[in-house]
Amino acid sequence: MEKYLVSARKYRPTTFASVVGQKPLAATLKNSIATDRLAHAYLFCGSRGVGKTSCARIFAKTINCTNRTADGEACNECASCCQFNENRSLNIIELDAASNNGVDDIRQLIDQTQVPPTEGKYRVFIVDEVHMLSSGAFNAFLKTLEEPPSYVIFILATTEKHKVIPTILSRCQIYDFNRITIADMVDHLAYVAAREGIEAEPAALNVIARKADGAMRDALSIFDQVAASSLNKITYASTIENLNVLDSAYYNRLLEAFLSGNVANALLIYKEVRDHGFNNHFFLTGLADYFRDLVVARDPKTIELLETDSEHRAHMAELAAKCTPKMLYRAMDLCNTADLNYRTAANKQFLVELTLIKLCQADSPSPDEGDGEGQKLQPIAAIPPTITPSTPRPTTTATAPAPAPAPAPAPAPQPVRQTPVSAPRPKASVKKIASLGPSISINPAAAKKPAAEQTAMPAATSEARTIVPAIDKEPLTADGVRRAWLSFADAHTSEHVLASTLRTCLPQKSDEDAVTFKISYESPAQADTLDKWLPVLTRELAAKLRNPDLRFVTELVSGEGSPLAWTEKQVLEHLMDQNENVRKLVESLRLSLD
Ligand SMILES: [Zn+2]
Repeated sequence: MEKYLVSARKYRPTTFASVVGQKPLAATLKNSIATDRLAHAYLFCGSRGVGKTSCARIFAKTINCTNRTADGEACNECASCCQFNENRSLNIIELDAASNNGVDDIRQLIDQTQVPPTEGKYRVFIVDEVHMLSSGAFNAFLKTLEEPPSYVIFILATTEKHKVIPTILSRCQIYDFNRITIADMVDHLAYVAAREGIEAEPAALNVIARKADGAMRDALSIFDQVAASSLNKITYASTIENLNVLDSAYYNRLLEAFLSGNVANALLIYKEVRDHGFNNHFFLTGLADYFRDLVVARDPKTIELLETDSEHRAHMAELAAKCTPKMLYRAMDLCNTADLNYRTAANKQFLVELTLIKLCQADSPSPDEGDGEGQKLQPIAAIPPTITPSTPRPTTTATAPAPAPAPAPAPAPQPVRQTPVSAPRPKASVKKIASLGPSISINPAAAKKPAAEQTAMPAATSEARTIVPAIDKEPLTADGVRRAWLSFADAHTSEHVLASTLRTCLPQKSDEDAVTFKISYESPAQADTLDKWLPVLTRELAAKLRNPDLRFVTELVSGEGSPLAWTEKQVLEHLMDQNENVRKLVESLRLSLD
């Protein structure tokens, strides 16, 4: 009776030609053998399951084959090839540095390099996960790696090239393995299925290939698992059931809900997903991928980036045509923000539901609603820079009057100015909401703020003129300065360092002085950039904000981390500021993060 072999072993490639998804690289290796231009050390880089070890083994077998075929492959018949294929060749020595990373392990390996081959020409030493070697082991290894005996060839393999020290990199010929594409994997799975007499739907193989995430070995193991449980008839339905994969039909239905602004349906579909036992984060990242796929499917030029069969591509293109680019970019951004906040969110389901509600409004014409993070994205280049900085103010709520516009804590004028500042507010908000049209706004507070502010600002000054002696100046608010700052960054996106420095180092209001803002930076590069640009920036912002006294002071911080790294409490406070419903929920349930 034939012994059962798992497919990953049974269909392990035995020649360069049978390596899946690495054709150019395999051809180069084969050529170097045929022309006898061998290096004494190779470094194979690439994620797991892409064929690094298989290629190393084939390489070792081929250079020792006594009867290579015309196209440079191992014959698989000579004595040496048979020894390799039966795993009893002495010319291949493998060390897994993940579990043997000490000095002694590497010394043993070096000792073995002193023994010449009894048969064949070369002894090949494969060191897998070489980046795991301890620094002592690395040092012990260097000398031998540089000048090994003539019959020794090292093949080092790593999944994390950046962790391999430069002294090793410089001694090796480096090969970067591609991630195996879905199409290549599906082809190979179809080949295996045919050989095994298993019926398999292409859509099912596609799901398996996606699940394997670029690793052929995993794809074959998953294939075995599905084949065993679906009695050698692999259908799409049996596969998603077996692998607990979320059916893309859910996402298609959700898209309909988003496009029609149907919050209720979106929340109900999400409940179905949860009822099927899917994890919130899994659902969320799947949704993010779905929007990404729609974005690439929308343009015939990028649809190639959609790794799937042509039928599914056509379907995605059809769905994508129903969406505006702006909606898709905003949806991706919302998913991304939710993903970033996921770990720290106390109530994960709530976070996902809030995201779904925002997605139902992603197609609305106003750029104002939604969360603060989303605002920075500029989906359409045509938006003039004067409109872009209309970020909702993170520090105000609907009920409390905005504290920021007061230029100085002078108690007397306060009550006088209070009235005109808050008076235009209701009018402005009514107008704004009306312009939103039929879309549902869960956050009228956030939506009305920028409009309210634009009208409120001149009102405050005209009033201030009668009271404050400094007549021509606008009071500066931390938020106003920050927005002007970011819009300056947006206007200089071609200056990459400047734009990114401006986006990371946001000005903070200085405690002592109403017109001085502090900018903290962490790196010398940021300091240089700020130094160079600060005069221009100050001049422009002073003019734009109509306050000639505006000044910036820079300071170096270290170890503190980016000001964008918020604590859980800050995240919650921000959410509460952004959304009145969150605040109500938190307050009514008396939730706290202490
Ligand atoms: Zn041979």
